[in-house]
Amino acid sequence: MNELMPLFLATRNRHKTNEIQTMLGKGVVVRDATEVPELPEIEETGTTFEANARLKAEGISLHLPGLILADDSGLEVDALGGEPGIYSARYAGPGCSDLQNTELVLEKMRGVAPEQRAARFRCVLAVARDGKTIATFDGTVEGMLTTEITGGGGFGYDPIFIPEGYEKSFGELPSELKNSMSHRGRALEQFRVWWEKETKN
Ligand code: IMP
Repeated sequence: MNELMPLFLATRNRHKTNEIQTMLGKGVVVRDATEVPELPEIEETGTTFEANARLKAEGISLHLPGLILADDSGLEVDALGGEPGIYSARYAGPGCSDLQNTELVLEKMRGVAPEQRAARFRCVLAVARDGKTIATFDGTVEGMLTTEITGGGGFGYDPIFIPEGYEKSFGELPSELKNSMSHRGRALEQFRVWWEKETKN
């Protein structure tokens, strides 16, 4: 990958930006919509992660030159019929905090047996230019929900999600370990391979 490659991420969620910056390394400068306040807020009106990722990437690419990357992601809980899913960021209502969303999931899962606490994180990345999506990538990590909030790391639902094969939550595990197996890490790895080929041409 070339020296100091710029990449614009269509998000105001600094947690996503920080994870993606860390995973792509120092050769890439990841900027996001927090640096460009005049960018419009893109409404997530899609019914799938992919549709919303496309909407965000395409919407921002109409306002900025070059490749725009968008991440749409969330938690799916089997016992809740796949909720919160695409509503992960606003599960407890518009403007609610990560903690309020997380507490609502725990509340709805109260009394559910350990073997019925299966869940997964999903991430779809969309890349757009001039209003058109040119590639999408997805990643998933399977796991199960805790019964209480654990650890102080990560963001969102990390403190209640234990990835398969581990006994600690993403809120307790080191961030490098999360990134190496997470839904976002897996999708980003595919993006990285695609991007390297793209920038060679
Ligand atoms: P989006 O901004 O509409 O894609 O919503 C993403 C939401 O999903 C976040 O606000 C979190 O609640 C949740 N989420 C996505 N990725 C993660 C993660 O890596 N850890 C914890 N929660 C996540």
